[in-house]
Amino acid sequence: MKRSHFVAGLSVAVAVTALSNVARSAEKVWKVHAKDRPQPKIVTPGDRLGDPPSDAIVLFDGKDLSKWERVAPKEGAPKWKIKNGAMTIAPLTGSIQTKAEFGDCQLHIEWRAAKGSRSNSGVFFMSQYELQVYGSYKNSNPIYSDGVAGSMYGQQVPLVNVCRPTGEWEVFDTVFRAPRFGADGKVLQPARITVLHNGVLVLNDAEIKGFTVHGKEAKYRKHPPKMPLQLQDHRDPVSFRNIWIRPLGE
Ligand code: MG
Repeated sequence: MKRSHFVAGLSVAVAVTALSNVARSAEKVWKVHAKDRPQPKIVTPGDRLGDPPSDAIVLFDGKDLSKWERVAPKEGAPKWKIKNGAMTIAPLTGSIQTKAEFGDCQLHIEWRAAKGSRSNSGVFFMSQYELQVYGSYKNSNPIYSDGVAGSMYGQQVPLVNVCRPTGEWEVFDTVFRAPRFGADGKVLQPARITVLHNGVLVLNDAEIKGFTVHGKEAKYRKHPPKMPLQLQDHRDPVSFRNIWIRPLGE
């Protein structure tokens, strides 16, 4: 190779390296099909659809409530009953929450309305934002539309009602994005949620308007970036099983 070609080649190589460094520092702008772009982390899927993948935190595997505690003011071990791989609310013993805290996450949870019961319960993301659990098969047990199963209670009506009859298992697959607050407590970005109910999209990147309240406009109040996940005791014997969560990064 002639020296001039070598120098030219070297210059191109340096320029390319410099460019790729710029690309790396400037918020990961990659050339199409860049060979040095990192491969995604390997995750092993569950055996069947709905089983926890290898990187999930299993919150309830049907055996015990060791990952859960009662919500104040009834602190301590949950009194909910475990039978046949499911936990069932013991009415009036109190809502329960995870001992661990979460922000952005993917959550899989299965629930079953008690046969013939309205079965009000709820999944509270960050102890604040309720994804409604309710026996809503064909809009039986009539309730306002922002209170049927798959609604963000009082805020967002599900796109469709895909409930099964009471007594059958239902599945929520959700992606939740926590709200972002400024130091002054102002909302920089509201929380958002996507929900598949029995595999059907019912909330599509829906905006959450504030912490869940009954009969009022929701507002935000600043809270930590991670908080427990809660399951609501609304006096009905709703069951839950196969609960797992994947915390999501920025
Ligand atoms: Mg509820």
